[in-house]
Amino acid sequence: MNLKFCILFSFFVRNVIARGGYRSTSLSSAADLGFENESYAGSGRHLIEENQSHHPRTDIARGYMTNSELERAVKEFGRRCSHISRIYSIGESVRGFPLWVIEISDKPGREEPEPAFKFIGNVHGDEPVGRELLLLLANWICDNYKRDPLVDLIVTKVHLHILPSMNPDGFSFRRRGNANNVDLNRDFADQFFPWNNNEDARQPETKAIMSWLREMRFTASASLHGGALVANYPWDASLDKRKNYYACPDDGTFRFLASIYSKSHYNMSLSKEFEGGITNGAAWYPVYGGMQDWNYIYGGCFELTLEISDNKWPNAKELPTIWEYNKMSMLNLVASLVKTGVHGRVFSSDSGRPLPGLITIKGINYTVKTSGTLADYHRLLVPGERYEGMKFF
Ligand SMILES: [Zn+2]
Repeated sequence: MNLKFCILFSFFVRNVIARGGYRSTSLSSAADLGFENESYAGSGRHLIEENQSHHPRTDIARGYMTNSELERAVKEFGRRCSHISRIYSIGESVRGFPLWVIEISDKPGREEPEPAFKFIGNVHGDEPVGRELLLLLANWICDNYKRDPLVDLIVTKVHLHILPSMNPDGFSFRRRGNANNVDLNRDFADQFFPWNNNEDARQPETKAIMSWLREMRFTASASLHGGALVANYPWDASLDKRKNYYACPDDGTFRFLASIYSKSHYNMSLSKEFEGGITNGAAWYPVYGGMQDWNYIYGGCFELTLEISDNKWPNAKELPTIWEYNKMSMLNLVASLVKTGVHGRVFSSDSGRPLPGLITIKGINYTVKTSGTLADYHRLLVPGERYEGMKFF
């Protein structure tokens, strides 16, 4: 690193999250998250790790979008909401199905000094609830732009990227893995066991995500899964392969982000299995080669793994209810990118040119980089605490 100089700074991060939905136009309205929880319906079943190649009855997908219906829905959304969105593909599945992404922003496709968030659904082919919810989310944002302050905040201050299905082939096979029957959430480079560090050997869906992160700087993200009801955060595993809590440098920030999701959810935070509806991945069960830890280590992106329904493939009639249970969680998680943390840009004092820089916080062994062209940075932190930081140029 070419260290020219550094600046010490200290600051206090305020908590400016809204209670019970976001009903105020003022960003500084202090309140907290929380929804009335009446009953806990979830039983918290664990994900099944093996023997996922069985084929459920074909009628299990009745009422769910097929891949071509999903493609039509994405393109229809792009036409209907062209003022705040653009549609693009980050690559193709093994069988050549495009991996469509919806970007939502008041300036889609333009670089702005704003944080970016990504949602990824259907990582596992037999967990299709996320792909349905993500289309509902996009449409809800489109319908409520300029009507709902929380939606306005997301559209104007964040670039939201939505990949409804990372694994369309797995979906059509009704199974966990992709067309080569590889579990995509075990196909990323791993910090402890780098058995798969040859990028060429990875699946096309994995490679597409990796190059996406090289092109675009995401501040945070979430992938949507099914089979349990919990917000999971790094680390996903430890070196000794034991089932123990293994904290990453930003443990506090991740617990805060995961809690935003669980507390805004209808009943996730009332879980009897997971305290507060959140869990450290390694404490639940170790995952090696997962997408979540890879995002944090290699992509500079704070990623959560969200288990959003106990039943991986519920009757399609339940989807509107599951959407209602998750709606505020999804919106509040995206909005948290601008409601907390430290944000800024780095300029040269003489020429005014944006400069590449690194931001570190005392006591947290993690570095946040500025984005390429505009040199903006977005450093998520737990609100209500005092921090000391350093900027390196
Ligand atoms: Zn899954």
